[in-house]
Amino acid sequence: MFDVKVCELLNSQINKEFYSAYLYLDFSNYFTDQGLNGFANWYKVQAQEERDHALLFMQYMQNNNLKVSLDAIGKPEISYIDSMTPLKAGLEHEEFVTASIHTIYDSAYQVKDFRTMQFLDWFIKEQGEEETNANDLIRKMELFGTDAKGLYLLDQELGQRIYTAPSLVL
Ligand code: MG
Repeated sequence: MFDVKVCELLNSQINKEFYSAYLYLDFSNYFTDQGLNGFANWYKVQAQEERDHALLFMQYMQNNNLKVSLDAIGKPEISYIDSMTPLKAGLEHEEFVTASIHTIYDSAYQVKDFRTMQFLDWFIKEQGEEETNANDLIRKMELFGTDAKGLYLLDQELGQRIYTAPSLVL
């Protein structure tokens, strides 16, 4: 019942999610080097979420007897200028992932693959949240990040983020 194109897109999304995890670990490492451990924590938790997304796509394929093929994960190539660089790159990346998930949804819709559409519903909502989070972080950094005390408090706040498993269970 599965369309070849939908299948390929689902498979390539696994790689995109793992790349997201890799990218956020790179951000986390950057902030660790800067001594901003709260920011580093926030992106490390984000990386864990992205790994979960990859595993969810993999599990969905396997639940439907589709063969998973893992590709090489790209090297994050970010030229860090200041602490705003990863925040902006993060938003840009989430917009890219949103577009990618919408493309899979569109392909599933074309072939009336209702099961995949329903599976993707969670991710469509999730992407809305990811973009909101990325925008909020940029906004907070613009408002408070230029002041040493503000940056300290923001770093403390981001250090509070803890990992929770995804609400989607397959
Ligand atoms: Mg993701």
